Amino acid sequence: MSVSGKPPYDPANIFARILRGEIPCKRVREDDHALAFHDINPQAPVHVLVIPKGSWVSAADFHASAPAEAIAGFWRLVGAVAAELGLEERGYRILSNMGEDAGQEVAHFHVHIFGGRRLGRMVPPGAA
Ligand code: AMP
Repeated sequence: MSVSGKPPYDPANIFARILRGEIPCKRVREDDHALAFHDINPQAPVHVLVIPKGSWVSAADFHASAPAEAIAGFWRLVGAVAAELGLEERGYRILSNMGEDAGQEVAHFHVHIFGGRRLGRMVPPGAA
């Protein structure tokens, strides 16, 4: 099911459960602000998710509601993870699905980091 609008934060969502240690993840890096781990269904040789340590349902919610320190800390970890994974030389893509049109599945804000091959078109072909 996709996420639309601004649903209330559901603490039972899968990423909240990963943050609480209730289900495992393949951790890449973690600090006070965020956790990075490998996607369970990778779409590229490198496919990592980064999630903030707070209750924000989406990109819209995070950027409107999170304290500046949390936003800065989150994005610094995104950059540090890409560097740590050796993606800076050849490049990488950062993506966040927000809401129904984007097909957001997990209602805890997250970004995907893709790399390790030519990633092709930014958006699949379709009517503009
Ligand atoms: P999105 O469509 O942007 O909400 O992406 C959700 C992502 O979470 C998908 O790429 C899933 O493969 C990934 N995912 C779902 N459950 C897990 C899990 N337990 N561990 C790692 N990645 C997961």
